[in-house]
Amino acid sequence: MSVTTVIGTDLSEAARLLRGGGLVAIPTETVYGLAANAYDAEAVLRIFEAKQRPAFDPLIVHVRDRAQVDEVVRAVPPEAQALMDRFWPGPLTLVLPKASRVPDLVTSGLDTVGVRMPAHPLTQELLRAVPFPLAAPSANPFGYVSPTTAQHVADQLGGRVPYILDGGPCTVGVESTILGWEDGTCVLYRPGGVPVEDIEAVIGRVGGGKRAVLPVAPGMLASHYAPRTPVLIGPVPALLARHAHQRAVVISFQQRHQAQGNEVLSPAGDLHEAARGLFAALRRADASGADLIVAEVFPDEGLGRAINDRLRRAAAKREG
Ligand code: AMP
Ligand code: MG
Repeated sequence: MSVTTVIGTDLSEAARLLRGGGLVAIPTETVYGLAANAYDAEAVLRIFEAKQRPAFDPLIVHVRDRAQVDEVVRAVPPEAQALMDRFWPGPLTLVLPKASRVPDLVTSGLDTVGVRMPAHPLTQELLRAVPFPLAAPSANPFGYVSPTTAQHVADQLGGRVPYILDGGPCTVGVESTILGWEDGTCVLYRPGGVPVEDIEAVIGRVGGGKRAVLPVAPGMLASHYAPRTPVLIGPVPALLARHAHQRAVVISFQQRHQAQGNEVLSPAGDLHEAARGLFAALRRADASGADLIVAEVFPDEGLGRAINDRLRRAAAKREG
């Protein structure tokens, strides 16, 4: 069933739709989200339908304030509290023991829930206008590149979401960093908008998750954030030489290359700027008609880790 999709900044319309169990695409500092009332399983089911997202992939719950955290989780460990104090509102999701009030559909049946307080002023205002937190994954069809503008959402979910709240281009541009606790130790589930180095400065060493993040074979989600055009990641001149007969667009940090197209993410060498532009560059490259997207390996520090993670997942689609 198709609906008319409106892009606008009418908060009361967005709140009205959410109260009625409907969907609204919302701007956040990371990427645009596809939001519904986190306490309403029927509303949440509509997110999975619109995205064609498998029900094994849990959603992040977006809260307006610290009090709302206590509605959705059973306990907040001291380290989690310290991280909230330092990084919220901001691009950090904490996976904590789930309260029974949160429907199982939100967490794919897990006993934990991912919680985040977003920093975008429009979405903060929306959260204050409704009496429930918002469950929201990224507002893209499952497996595709996340949207960083209202138009990206309309391009792919037009007809499936009645309202897109337009908050301008996302300022961080990659998804949140996701942390959880296993046997009392903090572990990284996904690198993202808050660099791991900054987290370690607050709580000390962060480990890699021993358990699978999701109740699925890891390979299934390796191919996430993927454009349709094949992506190769590695030394650019060598890859271009090996694929000399193909039309390639290069995604690089600072330097242009001898290729049909170039997406230089930050000539000045700023990883924040590079992250902000990454997904729009992937979309342009995908739409350019090129045979191949060739991406550089970014510096493995700060936001470079999140960039490399997303590029590797985009590349995994054809390799794995
Ligand atoms: P998205 O909002 O589309 O970036 O997807 C949310 C992601 O958050 C999921 O794909 C999971 O990787 C992660 N996530 C959400 N909730 C949990 C949880 N309870 N445990 C582990 N990972 C989670
Ligand atoms: Mg996503």
